[in-house]
Amino acid sequence: MSDTPLLLALDFGGTKHTAALAQAGARKWIDRRQQAAPPRADAAADVTIMRALARELLAAHPGRLAAIGVSFGGPVDFARGLVRLSHHVPGWENWPLRDQLHAEFGVPVSVDNDANLGALGEWRFGAGQVETRHVETRHPAPLRSGDYSVASLLYITVSTGVGGGWVLEGRVHRGAEGMAGEIGHTLVDPNGPECICGRRGCVEIMACGPAIARRARERLEAELDAGTHLRGLIQNDLSALTAERVSCAALEGDALAEEVLLAAARDLGTGIGNALSLMNPQRVVLGGGVTKSGEAWWAEVRRAARANTLPEISADIVPAALGDDAPLWGALALAESLL
Ligand SMILES: [Zn+2]
Repeated sequence: MSDTPLLLALDFGGTKHTAALAQAGARKWIDRRQQAAPPRADAAADVTIMRALARELLAAHPGRLAAIGVSFGGPVDFARGLVRLSHHVPGWENWPLRDQLHAEFGVPVSVDNDANLGALGEWRFGAGQVETRHVETRHPAPLRSGDYSVASLLYITVSTGVGGGWVLEGRVHRGAEGMAGEIGHTLVDPNGPECICGRRGCVEIMACGPAIARRARERLEAELDAGTHLRGLIQNDLSALTAERVSCAALEGDALAEEVLLAAARDLGTGIGNALSLMNPQRVVLGGGVTKSGEAWWAEVRRAARANTLPEISADIVPAALGDDAPLWGALALAESLL
């Protein structure tokens, strides 16, 4: 057993809870434990599962625990260490997660939302690294002393919704109310459909996975002779439309599917272009299921982003490197920041 302090990273996800242990300064896990989130859970049940996972890990790997970083899949009051609420699980309203874990484990604890920690995780350990093989380095960044991460990064996850987080000059930028990074609710089409936030034409309602399925359905309903291959893929059952099937049909040459996919990519790229003009980040990292839609989708996102920002602005727009684990890695970086 070494004297190096241990850091605990916890991720309360929508479908699963994960606890992982690492040595301070390390870039790999000593061990990790995961459990599916039970259906019809409440906050207390989720916390009980996570405490058990953490206890198991610490019992299996004795050492000096120094700090805990926690990612939560919902809005968090970072300054007060409170979960504001969960959009999926009842009972989380104003839950004092930081103080509860501090009381139980006796070490500093910090809690943040999964989009901010996805950004921090990718910045510290993933696609925010200057020398990442996944990354196209068309504009090689100057290295900061002792640091191999880019100086500023916008992380965007595109799946059932569109979320985002900022790392600026090596720190998460949370904003006055902890709401920074909500690129999903920036406007790209004032005449677009109504978004869950009540406004019209947000990036999310134009470009997320369900939006791609909706756009395909609308086209198929309006153009009875078009999209033959896509119709075959879903056996003419419009309720079976998903973003994955649309991108599959597009890859196989279905013109309607390709138009729908590229329109969604263009709207996302337009939103990214707005963000580039406002903040001029060095790199944009895209994660989430929709980013697996193929090279044409990526090319259109990049093209639209560059078309919608100033010519002096150039940012790499690259795939995330850590997949679903980005918030867990971000929780580790958060714990590290407490030392
Ligand atoms: Zn919205």
